[in-house]
Amino acid sequence: LLDIGVDVRSDLHVIEKPSLRTPDADSHKYNRGMVTIVGGAMTGASLLAAEAAMRAGAGYVALLGGQGGGPHALVHKSFDDDALDDDRIGALLIGPGLGRDDGAARRLDRALATAHRLVLDGDALHLLKDRMAVLESRAAPVILTPHAGEFAALFGEGEGSKIDRARAAARETGAIVVFKGADTVVAAPDGRARIVGDTNDWLSTAGTGDVLAGVISAMLAGGMPPFEAATAGVWLHADAARRLGAAFIADDLAAMLTESRASL
Ligand code: AMP
Ligand code: MG
Repeated sequence: LLDIGVDVRSDLHVIEKPSLRTPDADSHKYNRGMVTIVGGAMTGASLLAAEAAMRAGAGYVALLGGQGGGPHALVHKSFDDDALDDDRIGALLIGPGLGRDDGAARRLDRALATAHRLVLDGDALHLLKDRMAVLESRAAPVILTPHAGEFAALFGEGEGSKIDRARAAARETGAIVVFKGADTVVAAPDGRARIVGDTNDWLSTAGTGDVLAGVISAMLAGGMPPFEAATAGVWLHADAARRLGAAFIADDLAAMLTESRASL
């Protein structure tokens, strides 16, 4: 019995090494997966997410309304309807470094109003509290990636194990819920749940959540169904952390994704 109250032998499915498509002669940057990230107040977080998405295999990553910087291949655009209305966007990520002011809330509302597949992290989850009803009206999939504090703010402390709570949140929102921590759980509205296997406690450092959001966005943009995208993203993130060993920082984690991705 793990300390999250789940019997390993019966109820628990550890996330397994995913199999991902490798590029072939028909691949080009757009069909590899286009990730668009909505920038905000703290630029470092969105740049970490962008680099992670690129190294996890996205063919094209754009950052809207950021302030420059990042890998040279990162495309900087202003945050406007033209950039958001691009139907090549395979996943739209908002939250890392977004901020929580009125401008941030307006960007979130614009993102929620698009038809894109969405990944919501960080400050977007904070702002989502007053907008939960929007999730039900969305046709395209949504992935939420809260840590314990963000989860409790959105869904309360709740009853039962971490898996029970993640499942309940997924059912309630219709979204895939990635309930982060040392024992990250991915839950789907239909009751499927997976827990991260071998991971690395050195992940408990600033920016690693932004990296995860970028990786999951790349998986989603590449065409994986949202539950598979979330579990594959959690696996890649944990694998890169295992390869790094100790005392790494989020920048190292983003860089190591190249090796993790190449191993699949
Ligand atoms: P955030 O809290 O948004 O910065 O995200 C932190 C990331 O690091 C998430 O992917 C967590 O699952 C992971 N993480 C945090 N603490 C630990 C830990 N002690 N062991 C393993 N992973 C962790
Ligand atoms: Mg975070």
